[in-house]
Amino acid sequence: MKITDIRSMLLRGPRLHLPGGGKGVINKLLVRVDTDAGIYGLGEADFYMGVREALGYIKAFLLGRNPLDICPMVSEVLYGTLAPHPQDSRALDREAFTPFIPILDSSPTAVPVGPIVWAISGVEMALCDLAGKILRTPVYYLLGGKYRDHVQVYLDRSAPQDKENLDAWKRMAAEAAEAGFTHIKFDIDYTAPEYTRDVWNRSIPPGQMRRIVERLAAVRQTVGWDMALCADCHRHYNVADAIRVAQELAPLKLSWLEDPTPTANIDSCIAVREKSPIPICVGEMFTADIFQGFIDRQACDIVHPDVIFCGGLHEARLIADYAELHHMPMAMHGNGGSLATIAAAHVAAASRTFLGLEYHFIESQWISEYVTRAGAPLFKNGTIELTDAPGLGVELNTEVCRQYLAPGESLF
Ligand SMILES: [Mg+2]
Repeated sequence: MKITDIRSMLLRGPRLHLPGGGKGVINKLLVRVDTDAGIYGLGEADFYMGVREALGYIKAFLLGRNPLDICPMVSEVLYGTLAPHPQDSRALDREAFTPFIPILDSSPTAVPVGPIVWAISGVEMALCDLAGKILRTPVYYLLGGKYRDHVQVYLDRSAPQDKENLDAWKRMAAEAAEAGFTHIKFDIDYTAPEYTRDVWNRSIPPGQMRRIVERLAAVRQTVGWDMALCADCHRHYNVADAIRVAQELAPLKLSWLEDPTPTANIDSCIAVREKSPIPICVGEMFTADIFQGFIDRQACDIVHPDVIFCGGLHEARLIADYAELHHMPMAMHGNGGSLATIAAAHVAAASRTFLGLEYHFIESQWISEYVTRAGAPLFKNGTIELTDAPGLGVELNTEVCRQYLAPGESLF
């Protein structure tokens, strides 16, 4: 069996709860890998800068290859530094090098970060789906089997739009609990942004600190002590203020404080972790290479990869396994929609030390519906229940996809 095509399809629709509140528009990019046997796999990538160009580049190297060689193909892209321009006719479809893809002097895969890793993440997800369909097994068996039938989801709430109103915070937390979620997260940087005096010095002024604590305390008071509650810093703060906010929030018994300092600096994270009474969770945009330094040097307590940013399902497992050998559990960041979330759930099921899988888009129903699982809802009681269907166990919901197809796009 050979790979015959790699395509993408862009969906665009409303996002009814933006970070920090408010409404907007969001793009979701789906990936399809076709074979000469007529079997195809579905994946999802984030629609970030350069991803579609990178998909075109990767396609040129994967056409004609055996789709079951998932890890060798992904390793070529992530660690093998693919050739900078077409010199090898082995598997090359020169037509795939469309005019907007420049012929480069150096391989874009020499540094596996950015568009190339975001694109191969979506391709790898589709290859996992494809392999499961070929071998007639759910993806979690390809990853070693499942430790759990129900994957715990944690709901990212960010912040309500009306931040001054403590009742809005309480209502948001209560609604998550009523929907069955037992783990929620709020964003510190969106918690009291109106009190930011200077966006450049990475500090938390006193008025902002007081309101961050006040608002998260209102959440804790609403949901009680049995709800797992986390806070995300989005890599915003200097070391001293990251430590201060951790100490101020300590009485609320948070499960973790996320990404306290910029961006992939190991030493600053170590400095925060040494004095933080709250476990430190990092790495939503990291690859295994970057995690290695954080894990080796004990710069965090919890690793937090995302299958659409780290290189895919197998790379997420590699990160989980390496972290486990250092006695660090894995939570899973989730920037994807329904397809990526279910793919991540397969990794979560197959990873011993999994803690929780993030989801953002509970208000935007179309995002939870562009793939279906034989009528099963995306969530039930705050968890994802995996089925025994082959591959990722999903089918495109063509009705929803057609409705939210971005201008100029065609349906798979
Ligand atoms: Mg985060």
